[in-house]
Parts: sequence; structure tokens; C-alpha cells
Amino acid sequence: MELSLGSIAGSYALLPAYIGLLQQTNPGSLCYTEHVDDPHGAMRFKYQFIAYGACVNGYQYMRKVVVVDAFTIVDSENDDAWEWFFRHLSAFVHDTTELVFISVRHASIYAGMRKVYNQAHHSACTVHFWRNVRHLYKPQTLAGLMFAAARAFVVDDFNKKFLEIQRVNPGCAAYLVDIGKSKIFWRSRAARSVSVIAPKCRKIVDENFENAMAMAVRPISDFEFQIQIRAGECYTVKLVEGTCSCNEFQCLSIPCAHAIAAATRLGVSIENFIDVAYYEETIRHSYEEKITYSICGWKLFGRINL
Ligand SMILES: [Zn+2]
Repeated sequence: MELSLGSIAGSYALLPAYIGLLQQTNPGSLCYTEHVDDPHGAMRFKYQFIAYGACVNGYQYMRKVVVVDAFTIVDSENDDAWEWFFRHLSAFVHDTTELVFISVRHASIYAGMRKVYNQAHHSACTVHFWRNVRHLYKPQTLAGLMFAAARAFVVDDFNKKFLEIQRVNPGCAAYLVDIGKSKIFWRSRAARSVSVIAPKCRKIVDENFENAMAMAVRPISDFEFQIQIRAGECYTVKLVEGTCSCNEFQCLSIPCAHAIAAATRLGVSIENFIDVAYYEETIRHSYEEKITYSICGWKLFGRINL
């Protein structure tokens, strides 16, 4: 194996050259390497952080949601490894209350994150929860109930689903309580502008618009409205704050049917209330830069004569 592919130590020794090429071909990339001293005098590889320039620059246009699902090489000091990772990530993913991290439930990820990010929120990945619940508990419908609870916008809806989980399998409910119910959720919001809306967002807005047409609108003040749906329930929309008592508006940063009913009554464009991250122009900016692969096989390093 070593004859054909080279030694492990030899492979790590190639990293500096690879990183050099990567930074040349991808301007703006952030690359950090951590070494430890070897008892024999040489340096030994410990950690590597790479963020391509295209990703660093594109991030500013995106909603501030970071999924930590990376391929990592870590040592037994997992807490230190994750802290090291988050310290370098914070060079361009700044700590704000609008930032949400989503990750698997790993104590070291939580510990490392908390040392670097004090304001950002952290939630567990619902797909991992869904898989765990499916694997650990019967009947299979529990996973669906858990997913429905995770997608609830208001506490009442969540509680209804959670009570159902408790009724079907108290053990599963206890498992979720142990995790911390609030960890199942993630939502955030950002700024606005006017442009063409991306198709998936447009579909949601169109559906909400259709539902809004059947709602009764009562002004409370200049930009505050009470909206009554056919079933009789009432919601309060505050257009300036971008909120609705159903929670969907502020969570998705897309106007809910109630907000659309209010905006239509006021005669203002619905597009004003959609997060800038959902506009095609923003999405184009997010992904407009390309990642250039620095090497072609091993040829550049002279390992194999292709
Ligand atoms: Zn609403």
C-alpha cells in the first residue's frame, strides 16, 4: 500500500504545498494549520481549517444558519479541537443573535461553540432526531409526530404534538425532554430589499396570499392589525416589527397569510416584508464565486508520473 500510495506521514507532509496552491487559486481563502512538536524534533500535524474564498465571500448574502456536519480529523481532546475550529470560523462567521448553528448532539461541539459564540443560538438537527426516534422507539409514527412538533411555529401547536408523543410512548417523550425541547427548533431573520423572489419562496407567498383573501382585517394602529380567520381565531400582525402572533412571519422572514392580509389592507407591497436572502439576486451573489481545485491528481507534487 505504501509503495503505491505513499506513507501517511508523507501525505501529511504534502499539506503545506497543497494549502499554498489552494490559496493561490482561491483568493480570500482562510487556511490554518496547527502542529505539535514531535519528541524527535519534527513538527507533527494536528488540525487543518479550510474555508474557500468563494464560501467566505458568499456567506455575507446568506441567512445566518450554519450546519456543522463537517468531515473532521480530531484527536482525543475533542473539546479543544472544536474550540479551535470555531475560533477560526469566527473570522468570517461572526457571533450575533441572528446566527443559528445546527449540529448533531455532541458534547464537544456544544462546549467548543459556547467558548467562542455567546450570542448565537444552537439547535439540534431534526433529521438526526427523527432517525434516533425511529431507531429507538415504537411505533414508527412517533418519528412523524416528533417531526411535526419540530416544525410547529407556536407553542400551542408544539404542545399538542408533544402530548400526543407522551400518550403514545412516555419513554420517547422523556428522551425529548432530556434533550431539551427548545433544542429541536431553529429560526432566524435578517434584512430586506426589493428584487425577484426565488421560486420556492414565491410558492409559499402565493399560497399564503390565497389564504389571506378569506381573512377579516381590523386596524389597531397605523401598522398594527388584528386578523381573524374563518374558524374564528385572531392573530396580531405588527408590520414594522415584522411579527405575527402565529410566529411564522418572524421565524421564516416570509410574510404569513395574516401579514399578507394586513399588508394588502394597507396597500403596501408584500415583497417589502420578505427577507433579502430569498431574492434571486442575493442567491446569485451567494454562489457567484467559484471554487478552483488546486491539484490534478498527485502530478503537481511529483508523486506519480501520469
Ligand atoms: Zn401570522
